[in-house]
Amino acid sequence: MPKDVDAVQAQLDSFIRIAKNNERKQANFQEYELSLLNSPSLQNLFSLILTQHKDKFQLSEVTLLLLDPEYEFQRLLSDQIEAKNWENRLLFTDTEKLISQYFSLQRKPRLSAFSPHQHQQLFPDNSSLRSVAILPLVRQKKLIGCLNLGSRKLDRFQANIGTQFLQHLAAVMSACIENARLQENIKQVGLRDPLTGVNNRRFFDQRIEEEVDRAQRNTTPLSCLFLDLDYFKRINDTHGHQAGDNVLKQVAHIFNETMRTSDVLARYGGEEFVILLADTPPEVAMDIAERIRSNIENTPFQATPSIILNITISIGLATMQNNPKITSSKQLVNAADQAVYAAKMAGRNRVTQAKK
Ligand code: GH3
Ligand code: MG
Ligand code: MG
Repeated sequence: MPKDVDAVQAQLDSFIRIAKNNERKQANFQEYELSLLNSPSLQNLFSLILTQHKDKFQLSEVTLLLLDPEYEFQRLLSDQIEAKNWENRLLFTDTEKLISQYFSLQRKPRLSAFSPHQHQQLFPDNSSLRSVAILPLVRQKKLIGCLNLGSRKLDRFQANIGTQFLQHLAAVMSACIENARLQENIKQVGLRDPLTGVNNRRFFDQRIEEEVDRAQRNTTPLSCLFLDLDYFKRINDTHGHQAGDNVLKQVAHIFNETMRTSDVLARYGGEEFVILLADTPPEVAMDIAERIRSNIENTPFQATPSIILNITISIGLATMQNNPKITSSKQLVNAADQAVYAAKMAGRNRVTQAKK
């Protein structure tokens, strides 16, 4: 008899262990769910998903593939420093097909053994996985992306395992991502120029204060470029305002392509732009400015469907660094503005450095 009692006791202990384990898992999940729901920004939300999720649920890899046909997420995150750490984990696609291929019509989570052929695209950095769960993220009946969980254990994700918990997780995550995207848009809408999509003057005025403070705190050089298109009025006068607008859009695109990701670009007004180059001495700023000048000079601009134009730009450069004349944001911008004026006087299509 005592033998049976022992067996029953052992069985009971095992049940209690499982129940306790489940309770712990549940509490763990609820805590995580709350942090997702309370996330104050898109950046914070992605950090929870891409970094904390992995540790909290003992996974080897977590990646997120989002449908982003108009580069909205990518734009919203472009100024965020942390976003650079998510390369190969935060993935974007412009076609729904790439996502929908992983799911059946019911759009249920897919649990299976890892197959390099099938899953490499979702886990670009990780080929040592053994099993994966691909969760569809759906909002208003539309696929907005998928959350991809990878484990080195073969039995972690198997086709016959219940997916209720994962379905719930995916639903919460979809709602949070959508919500954060809308919030972030509202935050940024007042800080962007609608024509070119780059930061506006208001954004720049706030940002330059932060950069000046930081440069002074760390005693690093801060360079500022003031960019003014040459004879821009002529384009409007000859080909119409719309042609001028088209050129401005393309110009902003070239600036974006030529800059480093840490540089801050803004439309200052009209056909004038500014670029802030943090931790950049004058010689390096000069190289960047010269590259921009030459790119503009060598690019054919499609002003209207039938008219291609060549244009040039004048650039003024000022740097705050052991420079007694420049100790504030106002002085830095004024110096760059005066330098661009000097560039115009000297014949345009050139980069001029502010006088020390
Ligand atoms: P320069 O700078 O070489 O001295 O000559 P400019 O003709 O570029 O000089 P100015 O600064 O006097 O003129 C700027 C012109 O830019 C005035 C206006 O026609 C045009 N402009 C300003 N903002 C916009 C805009 O949003 N769209 C268009 N199409 N044109 C604009
Ligand atoms: Mg001007
Ligand atoms: Mg001009």
